[in-house]
Amino acid sequence: GRVISGEISSFDERFEQSLRPQMLGQYIGQERIKHNLGIFIEAAKGREECLDHVLLYGPPGLGKTTLASVIANEMGVNFRTTSGPAIERPGDLAAIVSSLEPGDVLFIDEIHRLSRAVEEVLYPAMEDFSLDIIVGKGPEARSIRLDLPPFTLIGATTRAGSLSAPLRDRFGVPLRLDYYDRGSLAEIVVRSAEIFGAPIDRDAAEELAMRSRGTPRIANRLLKRVRDYAQVRGNGSITLESAQEALEMLQVDSHGLDSIDHKLLTSMIERFRGGPVGLDTIAASIGEESATIEDVYEPYLLQIGFLQRTPRGRVATHAAYEHFGIDMPEERKK
Ligand code: ADP
Repeated sequence: GRVISGEISSFDERFEQSLRPQMLGQYIGQERIKHNLGIFIEAAKGREECLDHVLLYGPPGLGKTTLASVIANEMGVNFRTTSGPAIERPGDLAAIVSSLEPGDVLFIDEIHRLSRAVEEVLYPAMEDFSLDIIVGKGPEARSIRLDLPPFTLIGATTRAGSLSAPLRDRFGVPLRLDYYDRGSLAEIVVRSAEIFGAPIDRDAAEELAMRSRGTPRIANRLLKRVRDYAQVRGNGSITLESAQEALEMLQVDSHGLDSIDHKLLTSMIERFRGGPVGLDTIAASIGEESATIEDVYEPYLLQIGFLQRTPRGRVATHAAYEHFGIDMPEERKK
């Protein structure tokens, strides 16, 4: 139950921590973002001011948390992290922001999940570095304003669309992270393998990169599994052959699609004639949460052109039919 999953996630967290780049120069890919950030950071440091608030958005595992900690390192300030669901009441947020040191980076993951009441407290904190606190009750109640140290808020979200407009508008630097190209992912795999002390052939790294759905977190996880396989079945050195065998064993296909992607697409094709079909209907038919499909699975399938969004629902594309070796119905072919 909970204890076990807690242990696994803290183990995962430590594993990810060990692979996290510390500085901008070690952060692979996302060139445009790095270039822009580099300028903003240098300018802020030159003025001895803190960096404007930054909003990072994009699918899970693309390096939002990592980038936030890199920004704090580059600015030479503390990195404090929390998340939307962890901040339950306005008082929780007040306690966090009033304990910051000048210039600190406060990272709020899943910022779209902040409650309205907490957001209201966040606005003046972001805008004027102040807190409006209500003291007393009833007719005696009054509001007092507390000054905060200047700080940089970095918010991360998988769904920028769910952020309220007033909150979105308060970020000076909105940055959208994209899926990584194969070359960048291969570089990440090689770097991680070096940190693990696991020798890996270049073509094996490329193979892992190709099957990682454009996502560094997945690349690192697959690398870990492949390393285990190479150690048990071979001499520990990761070759293309051992990587392919391990990936087959893990049921990761040539596009990096896993069993849930398969279920999603084949169910659309087989039960709904390829669509259009509504998100909630697909979700129910395969027993997954709509939000998980929308945030985690769908973005990559859209990116590789296996899925399309239309006003009438989701549609499986010709490429998806081809991938599964299923003939597309004639009436869909036009
Ligand atoms: P997110 O916060 O977007 O879910 P994380 O920042 O936790 O993603 O990144 C997941 C893992 O991927 C981290 O362990 C990190 O080591 C690795 N990673 C992410 N982006 C990069 C990058 N640009 N270069 C190297 N490693 C990266």
